[in-house]
Amino acid sequence: MVNVNICENVERIRGLIAESAKKSGRKKEEIQLIAVTKNHKVEEMVKAIQEAGVTNIGENRVQEAQTKWASWPENVNAEWHLIGHLQRNKARKALEIFNVIQSLDSIALAERLERICVEMKRTVRVLLEVNTSGESAKHGVAPDDVYSLFDYVMGECPSLTVQGLMTVGPLTEEESEVREAFALLRSLKENLSSSRDVLLPELSMGMSGDFQWAIEEGSTMVRIGTAIFGPRSY
Ligand SMILES: *Cc1c(COP(=O)(O)O)cnc(C)c1O
Repeated sequence: MVNVNICENVERIRGLIAESAKKSGRKKEEIQLIAVTKNHKVEEMVKAIQEAGVTNIGENRVQEAQTKWASWPENVNAEWHLIGHLQRNKARKALEIFNVIQSLDSIALAERLERICVEMKRTVRVLLEVNTSGESAKHGVAPDDVYSLFDYVMGECPSLTVQGLMTVGPLTEEESEVREAFALLRSLKENLSSSRDVLLPELSMGMSGDFQWAIEEGSTMVRIGTAIFGPRSY
């Protein structure tokens, strides 16, 4: 087990977020830190929340989140973001745990979430996930398809509040390629906002290896796991 100081790591990341914000003429308050806790324990999550002041956590899998939720201490509060692919048959469980679904990537899933929200008499915040890199292993709608998904949700899903777009950058260290994907997400958001005349505040992009580029390209939510909690053991 690697010796990891969660508090120091969060402090360091906050410093880097502020630095990148300043570099691009933005305020650091415009960027939310989502601590990605997949494959890490409830104790580590609680420490990040109580001692390092983390307020948003990101989980990839409904099943894992459910297990953690079952032993979650009562007095510890955070916003739970689902950042991994959601299968339709897990939509109900996801809505029992998560405050934000960042991985809405199909009309069929939107339809299911809407139906269950109506039953539960609640609403849910969502981001539309876009595959900006074209990598076949990645989830998300193709860039051209984000418009029809958005129009479907706006027209047919009054229980879902679309707050913006989400993407996972390409699997490369090539800066120009990574930035191109982030810039694409930003331009999709701007095109949607202006053509539909809606306010879409959020751009969820950037992870441990690329969050500073993402902020310079306009990210408002960075999803950081390894740089806070250390490497994941599977
Ligand atoms: C795991 C994961 C992250 C965090 O990745 P790190 O490289 O550990 O920071 C962010 N977003 C998604 C969708 C992930 O699956």
